[in-house]
Amino acid sequence: MEASLVPGTVKYSNVTDQQEHEIDCDYAEVIDSSRYIYDVYHRETIHHAEQILSGGEFLPECRHRYSTAIIVPYRDRQDQLAAFLNYIHNYLRHQLIHYRIFVVEQSDHKPFNRAMLFNIGAKVAVSYGYPCLILHDVDLMPLNSGQIYACSASPRHMSSALDWWRFHLPYRTLFGGVIAITSLQFQEINGMSNLYYGWGGEDDDLFERLDVSGIHICRFDPAYSEYTMLKHKQETPNKNRLALLRAASVRMNIDGLNTLRYKEVERRMHSLFTHILVET
Ligand code: UDP
Ligand code: MN
Repeated sequence: MEASLVPGTVKYSNVTDQQEHEIDCDYAEVIDSSRYIYDVYHRETIHHAEQILSGGEFLPECRHRYSTAIIVPYRDRQDQLAAFLNYIHNYLRHQLIHYRIFVVEQSDHKPFNRAMLFNIGAKVAVSYGYPCLILHDVDLMPLNSGQIYACSASPRHMSSALDWWRFHLPYRTLFGGVIAITSLQFQEINGMSNLYYGWGGEDDDLFERLDVSGIHICRFDPAYSEYTMLKHKQETPNKNRLALLRAASVRMNIDGLNTLRYKEVERRMHSLFTHILVET
């Protein structure tokens, strides 16, 4: 499995000793020792918080092969965000990757625009040099420690065995929840659509963009892909979503990263994440 992952690390011009570790991180061991990890120990308190750098960045104590930006679209789910940050830092520390958490918060009062927040997060993550993006709902928790948060050669649907769906895929082209995609692939498909305000459709639109571009997706074995979803009410569906979806492929070159317009209200480094507050 490790062979299908795409190596790629961030080089910072102002940091000279980032790759000075002599020992390579052992990813085969991370994958081979995969186990259920969503226990009280990993959920309730954050361990070794002092190892997390400002802005929610982590570097392992071995020579890492993967640098990943985890992008979380967010508004008004404070308890979920707290639970997510706590658990995901504990979870990711085991994986020996270099990562940083970006929380992109929509500050206006329009319906929530998940896809546009991913575009914004991707743009920022690319400006920091990250070669791999993980697009991550705030309410999804990985249960198996070996679902490695690195990009595969093909974009990967990571949360394919969701408890909410009784650990089965409801339909083959489902491509929401948690996705790993290289920054290059994301740019190649012009990111996601900016037009989906309200719930639904934007993840199918993303699948369509990849499909018409001839980019196949992949999934790991379900034993690595189990997630639990924290409880929440169903958001109001976007009535326009099916009409938008029908034209997804004809629109993709004129709706996405190249037409992204937003206002960055604030960027703040918190101890557990980089907070990007935006108006869409
Ligand atoms: N989200 C949010 N605030 C909202 C609506 C959505 O933060 O008011 C984010 C959050 O990351 C959430 C994701 O968008 O996990 C997807 O929304 P939701 O969980 O409602 O979708 P579903 O569970 O139906 O996939
Ligand atoms: Mn949800």
